[in-house]
Amino acid sequence: MERSTSRQSRKKVVAVVGGGLVGALNACFFAKRGFDVELFESREDIRRAKIVKGRSINLALSHRGRQALKHIGLEEKIVAQGIPMHARMIHSLNGKQSPIPYGRKGQYILSVDRANLNKELLTAAETYPNTKMNFDHKLQDWNAETGLMTFARLDGSKEQVKADLIVGCDGAFSAVRKQFLRRSRFDYSQTYIPHGYMELTMLPINGEFAMKPNYLHIWPRNTFMMIALPNLDKTFTCTLFMPFEDFEKITTGDEVIEFFQKYFPDTIPLIGADTLQRDYFRLPAQAMVSVKCNPYHIGDACVLMGDAAHAVVPFYGQGMNAGFEDCIVFDEIMDQFNEDFSAVLPEYTRVRVPDDHAIADLAMYNYIEMRAHVNSKWFLFRKYVDNI
Ligand code: FAD
Repeated sequence: MERSTSRQSRKKVVAVVGGGLVGALNACFFAKRGFDVELFESREDIRRAKIVKGRSINLALSHRGRQALKHIGLEEKIVAQGIPMHARMIHSLNGKQSPIPYGRKGQYILSVDRANLNKELLTAAETYPNTKMNFDHKLQDWNAETGLMTFARLDGSKEQVKADLIVGCDGAFSAVRKQFLRRSRFDYSQTYIPHGYMELTMLPINGEFAMKPNYLHIWPRNTFMMIALPNLDKTFTCTLFMPFEDFEKITTGDEVIEFFQKYFPDTIPLIGADTLQRDYFRLPAQAMVSVKCNPYHIGDACVLMGDAAHAVVPFYGQGMNAGFEDCIVFDEIMDQFNEDFSAVLPEYTRVRVPDDHAIADLAMYNYIEMRAHVNSKWFLFRKYVDNI
């Protein structure tokens, strides 16, 4: 079935592919400008779903991201639902805890719930009468010349939709980006790091946080590390980053406890030995990929933002924040060039690619710094680890 998205309005139709964090935010930016916005998301509506799968349970929201939320009037609400983290709390092997502030007094980053933030952004996008949400629409293919997109539905049916501008916000494994790969002079690289990550939950103890809540807790252990961010329900989400081969060496519950006893002894009474033994095997460790590409646009027809343009490893805590900043930068260029896509898109590539590539490099550098030097060179740690 082919349907036209034209609604007889003076504004063009913008199709935002991907209703994750960056796509939902971007829909608000375009809707605010008065475009007819169609958002297409492969998953069902997460506001109605029983289980919401995402790349992490919570994440750190910093200045960049807040500025973008401010632009659509959502900053205060999201900040009120976040937990300020004023410092990193470093856990030594002997149990000693040492705080390292993120900045001057009063400065902090926020731990926010990913699913909740995504839901709030979708609801914000939906409040614009010129936005239409299309869940259960998985982009399969699209044509750069005609702007015609083909979506697959869960029931096996296909739908074809045309738009004036396609905004690819469909994440690190972007289907929109596939079309770019078929074109000449498109630079693309992707790197999987040898580490994977696994999330473990630390429940409240006697109704209170098991550790001090206003910190991003870190257990640096040279070749691997664990971090923990607080949640509003007084749990902590602990994320263990470790080479896949080390994850695979641990095959029994007893080996899990032995490993934690050796490297994270202070966490065993906090997480609980039984919980650890169970949760370690609940899901396999997840991979982390870094993606760089250039340009971010095709003519005046399509542009990539967020992880679709630049997936970064999470060690700088800036993936989402940089994706949110993409939206602001694009919006500013829209003002400069009077919403003329043929001028805006190349300028966006020109301005944004170097900055996003710099974030990707910093994130990768930080990953190396943290595993190689963190325990021996604290000054390097303090200097480079801005957000984690
Ligand atoms: P995604 O969140 O991946 O969303 C893409 C959306 O597109 C999804 O909803 C998906 O269902 C949809 N989609 C995919 N394919 C299709 C298709 N073919 N058709 C239609 N829809 C499609 N960043 C931070 O700033 N701070 C942090 O603290 C932080 N911590 C992290 C911790 C971990 C462990 C990881 C892995 C990442 C972390 N990040 C963090 C990075 C952050 O998760 C990403 O940068 C962010 O999710 C990017 O948002 P996005 O909307 O571009 O992509």
